[in-house]
Amino acid sequence: MKTLLTSDQIHEEVSRLGKQISLEYENRPLTILGVLTGSIVFLADLIRNIDIPLRVGLIQASSYRGTSTKAGTLNISADLLPEIKGRDVILIDDIFDTGNTLHGIMELVQEKNPNSLKSAVLLWKEDRQEIDLTPDYHSFKIPNEFVVGYGLDYNDDYRHLPYIATLEEAEL
Ligand code: 5GP
Ligand code: MG
Repeated sequence: MKTLLTSDQIHEEVSRLGKQISLEYENRPLTILGVLTGSIVFLADLIRNIDIPLRVGLIQASSYRGTSTKAGTLNISADLLPEIKGRDVILIDDIFDTGNTLHGIMELVQEKNPNSLKSAVLLWKEDRQEIDLTPDYHSFKIPNEFVVGYGLDYNDDYRHLPYIATLEEAEL
């Protein structure tokens, strides 16, 4: 395992993003919507760096299956989704890879009639993009390598790491 982003680097960026969102969403009914499970650590840190009133919601999506590092079928469940009609929503995900997950979730969330909808991701693998959508906010652009830590897993392990690391081929 090789560290790609240290805990300090991540916190500095998340704090910057929190300040930016605080300025842009002042006096608006903000809901931060986290995508389970990968965004939980990012979500928890980001909301504590936003100093305007907000609500938090969760939505569940999965595309990777078990020990595969290739995306499978996208499953989205809105069972946990709070009322977002008329609210200004920022959808939070851990990583923007092909963009299919974010695109699928944005479509579903849009159907619930929020006042506005934007997306924020911690990591963006820029050259992997398959669809015509770019995240409105991002913290880091990273190369096309499989990463774990700070919420991101490999077969459900490593989510708790406070930093982000790349897994070597032999470790997969
Ligand atoms: P997309 O639909 O954009 O291709 O993939 C987004 C989802 O795939 C993310 O929410 C994340 O769960 C997973 N994913 C993509 N790249 C990585 C990676 O490098 N590491 C891990 N752990 N998950 C990834
Ligand atoms: Mg995910």
